[in-house]
Amino acid sequence: MYDVIIIGAGIGGLICAAKLATRGRKVLVLEKIHHIGGTSHIFKRGDYYFPMGPLAFSFPDLILEILRDIGIKNQIKFTRSHFQLISDDFDIIYSQDWNKFKQELINQFPEERKGLHKFFDELTDLIKKTSQIHKWHPDFLIGKKRAIAKTHLIQDYQEIYDQIEEYSRIPSKKLLDKYITDKDLKKLLGTQGTYDPIMNMVHLAFMWNVMSFQGIWFPSCGIHGISDLLKEKIVREGGEIKLNTPVEQILIEDKKAVGVQTSDGTVIYADWIVANADYKKVFLDLIDPSDLSNSHLELVKNTEYTGSELCVYLGIEPEKVDLSKLRAEHVFYRAKTEKNDNLNFEDFANREIEICLWSDKSAMFAPKEMKSLVLRVNMPYSHFKKWRTGEKKRDQGYRPYKKKLAERLIDTVEMILPGLSSSIVKMEIATPLTYQDWGQRSQGSIAGWTRDLKKIQFKNKMLVETPIDHLVMVGIYAVLEPFLGGFPVSMYTGDLAADLILDIEKK
Ligand SMILES: Cc1cc2nc3c(=O)[nH]c(=O)nc-3n(C[C@H](O)[C@H](O)[C@H](O)COP(=O)(O)OP(=O)(O)OC[C@H]3O[C@@H](n4cnc5c(N)ncnc54)[C@H](O)[C@@H]3O)c2cc1C
Repeated sequence: MYDVIIIGAGIGGLICAAKLATRGRKVLVLEKIHHIGGTSHIFKRGDYYFPMGPLAFSFPDLILEILRDIGIKNQIKFTRSHFQLISDDFDIIYSQDWNKFKQELINQFPEERKGLHKFFDELTDLIKKTSQIHKWHPDFLIGKKRAIAKTHLIQDYQEIYDQIEEYSRIPSKKLLDKYITDKDLKKLLGTQGTYDPIMNMVHLAFMWNVMSFQGIWFPSCGIHGISDLLKEKIVREGGEIKLNTPVEQILIEDKKAVGVQTSDGTVIYADWIVANADYKKVFLDLIDPSDLSNSHLELVKNTEYTGSELCVYLGIEPEKVDLSKLRAEHVFYRAKTEKNDNLNFEDFANREIEICLWSDKSAMFAPKEMKSLVLRVNMPYSHFKKWRTGEKKRDQGYRPYKKKLAERLIDTVEMILPGLSSSIVKMEIATPLTYQDWGQRSQGSIAGWTRDLKKIQFKNKMLVETPIDHLVMVGIYAVLEPFLGGFPVSMYTGDLAADLILDIEKK
């Protein structure tokens, strides 16, 4: 019998397990596949290490705070990652200091000067108000912390709370239309790219806070290195981690989670179950529907996730390719910007492609004298669905098809990186099917729940607590809004869930 069973060794599951083990709880982590870290993992192909998921993340101070709280005091240095947009309208680094960015836009668009000042003033004010929202806003907290936040709210934050409520009802497009005239400038400010703005103002504030105020950073130990530190800590504190052990069912008695059954039929009991698998998987696959209300089942079924992507990993000989257009480690590139309602998923010129100079993040990722790139573009699961015949099984034709798409993607990127195709010495391709089977996310989703708020029917923003007693969720799908960015939100929910369990036990 364990105090807590954690389903999944992603970053959310590991941090929760490490905190509970440090506080003397008997924990068992059950991981379906052969490695820890979930999507925060690197894999080796030849002499290259490539990232399965995150390339860098925001809120480094919060990450360090959470690690230190559980006694992980290793020196981790963070290097800031920068972001550049290259399109037919822009070549700009937008991750820079907020005021410098504003000045650069004023220099490029002198006729927008007045509107830019007003837009930046209003957004800056909102960013400052929402920047540390997880520390005081009851909607982004749970349990005891939430109750405390509610009392402080009335004394200290009511006015800001009301303003945030109001801004959450204002589409960013409305404010951009009010202050800015140029349509491409509106897109840059509303999406950090070339698409039409769809977010509300609060989400826009989260996005620019992550990018410009907190910044996006890469840790000296590598993102995967944080998982390794957590694993060491769990084991040192007497916790157990079992790999290759899929949980097939969460056992529930009288609406309370009491244990799990693994795929080989083993039943293990615990006081608490923490699920780091994605929300749909937990509620649609791991729980008997008779233990859930129809309304919750419908809610989970009908709320969408963010989509998936095609990712091409390349090992390259740098002297054969001209990389001079890349002024930052992360470049979003769109060769042409044309309105097109029927996207052709085999044509990449009219879409944003992320190009990451991955090997610049760490000397271990590529052999000396060589470099590596990661190319990513949105790709709906439905476009690849027909090739999947079972877990890790594909119909004939899948391999040549994904290779064809990868080559087209490379051809498009070659427009700004001349010589790219002849510089390639290693190539690996991931599709939405890869992310489904390998990242274990429903339909290969990448970045949590849909950003389209009209499609969200959940009442709470935090989904850590669940309708089942003693079952809590952690990870990127345990929140509705990515207010800290992906990786930090996974850590934050793992930490919150551990505190919730410890607080309830104390009562
Ligand atoms: C391609 C990609 C790119 C991304 N880029 C970024 C980025 O640049 N920056 C950023 O901040 N975030 C990024 N993210 C989001 C990032 O993955 C998350 O922020 C973070 O790694 C997710 O952690 P998690 O705790 O939610 O768990 P996950 O990484 O989803 O891990 C969940 C774990 O649960 C296991 N599991 C599932 N089902 C079972 C079961 N039945 N039994 C046992 N175990 C099970 C899985 O095998 C997995 O190990 C990216 C994600 C992807 C996929």
